[in-house]
Amino acid sequence: MRVAEQFAATDRGRQRRANEDALLAKPPLFVVADGMGGAKAGEVASRVAIESLRKRLPAVGDAQIRAVLRERIEEANARIHALSIRNANQAGMGTTLTALHVGEDEVLLAHVGDSRAYLLREGKLQRLTEDHSLVDELVRQGRLAPDQAQDHPQRSVITRALGPEPTVHIDIRTVTPQPGDIYLLCSDGLTSMLSDEEVAEILTAAPTLQAAGKELIRAANAAGGKDNITVILIRLEAEPARTTGEETRVLHLPAGRKRRSKKPPKWLWRPVAALLVLLAILAGATYLASQSIYFIGVNKRGLITIYSGLPYELPGGLKLYVPYYVSGVPAIELPPARRAKLLDNSWRSEGSAGSVVKALEVEAGEGR
Ligand code: CA
Repeated sequence: MRVAEQFAATDRGRQRRANEDALLAKPPLFVVADGMGGAKAGEVASRVAIESLRKRLPAVGDAQIRAVLRERIEEANARIHALSIRNANQAGMGTTLTALHVGEDEVLLAHVGDSRAYLLREGKLQRLTEDHSLVDELVRQGRLAPDQAQDHPQRSVITRALGPEPTVHIDIRTVTPQPGDIYLLCSDGLTSMLSDEEVAEILTAAPTLQAAGKELIRAANAAGGKDNITVILIRLEAEPARTTGEETRVLHLPAGRKRRSKKPPKWLWRPVAALLVLLAILAGATYLASQSIYFIGVNKRGLITIYSGLPYELPGGLKLYVPYYVSGVPAIELPPARRAKLLDNSWRSEGSAGSVVKALEVEAGEGR
């Protein structure tokens, strides 16, 4: 799956002086953190959490991402906890954290606190996270009715957060994504002001995620805006079909006319033989030519790669190129227009391909 459209914004709301929420929207990872604690400590906690997750993710499969995220969230917890012990005015600070990772075949959610993740699929909104709040736990235990929870005075008391304890228990779950899925991550400044029905109505009525996100924030403010409001929206679509070869952006030479009958008439063999001879000559010539030609592509793991040879594959899967240098830069991190320009299969010299990719790596290193 890949992210087709996204929206991310945070708003102070109408009654708070500062915004203690923080967010990260860096595909494939999206995070909302809602900090708490006096004297700006909440802002510190949520920002430390986001910074711990901003680092580039290793190019590993869905199965390994879970462990990587868990480790980084535990590290964020430890950092916030250590700060809160060292500084008296940050004692007891903490933050919620709801993270969503869009993998190849699954969406992973990691969650602590009372920020939320929702999924809008086929017009229906479903909540994907449980609030770690006093009120929600009482509801789950059957000691409080759900309609009593919405306006409960202890609504904002949370039972789990990053920071207050040396270790933290993280809820992790996966969702099998479908094309067209819309995911919402938000802080309680949205959900304490709007009901799930109101959120669903806004999401289904808006023409774009941008319009939906702005309308959610506007509506939460119109309802009182008692708290900071953070909204992230993501729409998924299927990856474009992949070719069978290693390279995903390879031009295929025409493979000749398709035969209709099982036994082709004899006269057909002549042009087929001629085509094969032609291809053999072409392969020989291009092999010689390709020794000094390079182009930039993407390898199986999604990393920008310099290939030596020509960006073609002959019928039968014979590639006219081999990987020459694999960079550490995932193609998905480049803006789409830039990615398209870079991966246009144009022929380059070794020096030109090398300097382009080197510049990308330097840039990516600075963004880290
Ligand atoms: Ca809040």
